[in-house]
Formats: sequence, C-alpha cells, structure tokens
Amino acid sequence: MQLAFWGVRGSIPAPGPATVRYGGNTSCVSLRPSGGGLIVLDCGTGARNLGMSLIDGPFGEGRGEASILLSHAHWDHIQGFPFFVPLYQPGNRFQIFGGAQSSAMLEGILEGQMAPQYFPVQTLKNMGASIEIAAIREGEPFQVAGCTVRARTNPHGRAGALAFRIEDRGRAVAYASDAGYGPGGPPAASIELYRGAEVLIHDSTYTPEDGRRYANRGFSSVEDAVAAAVAGAVKRLVLFHYDQDYSDADVDALCARGRRLLDQRGGGSIELVAAVEGATLAL
Ligand SMILES: [Zn+2]
Repeated sequence: MQLAFWGVRGSIPAPGPATVRYGGNTSCVSLRPSGGGLIVLDCGTGARNLGMSLIDGPFGEGRGEASILLSHAHWDHIQGFPFFVPLYQPGNRFQIFGGAQSSAMLEGILEGQMAPQYFPVQTLKNMGASIEIAAIREGEPFQVAGCTVRARTNPHGRAGALAFRIEDRGRAVAYASDAGYGPGGPPAASIELYRGAEVLIHDSTYTPEDGRRYANRGFSSVEDAVAAAVAGAVKRLVLFHYDQDYSDADVDALCARGRRLLDQRGGGSIELVAAVEGATLAL
C-alpha cells in the first residue's frame, strides 16, 4: 500500500510564502492498494496535482480506473473535482462514493458546484469519463480496488463527515478528516473504526487552545487526534487538515505538541508525522 498526500489544508486553499513546506492545497489523499488500482480520499484542490500526475499513465489513454471516497461535500473536499483532468478523458472509469440519503442526492450535490453560475466548462454528465455515483450505507462494508471499506459518520457541521477504514489484506488505513467530537472526545464507534490501524490520518485543524476557542466549527484539535490514536491503539498517527491561517512554523509546533501529548497519554509507541503536500508514505 502506498499513500500520497496532494492536499493537507482545511477549509480553504492557503498558498503563499508561509505555507510552502506543508502546502496550501485542500484535502486530497491517494492510496495505491497492494494489488494495484487507485483509491482517492476527498477531492479538495490537491486533486488537481494528483490528476496531472496520472495523465502520463493509463488515465491519459482512457484506460484508467479509480474509486473516489468523499468524506463530505464541503468546499475543501470537492473543489478539486472539476479540475481533476482524468475525468475529462473518455474511456476512464470512476466510482464516487459519499454520504447522502440517496445516490441521486449525492449526484445533485456534485452537479451543484458545476452549475453554470459557478463553473464555466462542463457538467458532470459530459465530462468524458464514465462516472458512477453511489451513496454509502453506513455500517455496510463495500469493496473497492480489492480493499474492504467501512465508513462511519463523525460529528461535523449539520450533516457530519464520513470517516473511512480501508483494509488491504489485513492491514488498515483509517482516514478521519473533519471530526468535531466535542468535549466527550471520540465516540466508541469512531474508535472502533480506527482500531489497530497501521495509519490513522486524522483531522488536526487546531492547537488545543484554538480547538476550544472555535469548538462550534466542528473540527479536531491535535489533542483530539491524539485521543483518537491512543484509544484506537493505532501504529502511526498522521496529522492532517491544518487551519488555513497556520504557517509552517505553526504546524511544526502543532506536531511537536502532538508528540508531547502522545508521550504523556499512553501513546509513546505511536509514531507521529504531520502530513506534507507532495509526500508519500509506504506501508
Ligand atoms: Zn474540511
């Protein structure tokens, strides 16, 4: 399995001299399972660079296939979708999974951001590639690219955000972007989803102080991420989805804080890294 980070920022792209090291693009992670294939986690603005990296291979020749898992449809998780060039290549095939009451509703949500008032080029129906859209039924595992995927809704805004567990031959990656657990910390069902994962990519939007200050925004602090990692006894915690106003130095400090919190709270053996745009992680 190989993970690659294309966008690690939350809420809105934040390019500029203060964010060059961690990157300014919003949420997008790719996963290459051990048996081949491609899974894309969220389509924030980072998806643009992922798309361009794919065009040299089968996706440039109309022979590409991928599954896209959307945690939710806030801007920073879907805005890269209309700029994901493999979608414009006839012959490519995509399956898009997300949280909605029905597949038609999910299609409507994605189509919405491509309405002519917002986007000049295309609609979902004439992008070129074949696109199949499916609403996820929580609690029902499904198969993509030879992996078993389970999803569960974390508290976030009015509609929540899905967290995913992707199992590839007994090894699991958990992805939990945008999780506003509240003062009770991660609920048992979320911890179960993360349990024993090789890697937990977790929302770490804020410092503990900012997390308390902006509690109504529905995001995790690094302290929440540490609590989730320790309770789920994961092997490696990847901090993700940094606040748009945090500079590289702020994220360095967030990471150091996470290390101290892990050591203090029984997570001394958990490896910690902060997600960096452009970086890969082999499992
Ligand atoms: Zn987000």
